Amino acid sequence: MTCPQCADADCAQIEINLSDEDTVQFFSCRKCEFKWWEKEGDTIALDEVLNRASKN
Ligand SMILES: [Zn+2]
Repeated sequence: MTCPQCADADCAQIEINLSDEDTVQFFSCRKCEFKWWEKEGDTIALDEVLNRASKN
């Protein structure tokens, strides 16, 4: 995974299960500390993660 902000490849990935069938990935860049979320390969906003979490 490459950081969308600084293009560095040294990023941490964490899988988070919001429910049995709803998994999102959290990414954190070790170089510039940019953080982002993905769902099924698409970047999603933190608001959407929170909305999904509150529905479950
Ligand atoms: Zn970065």
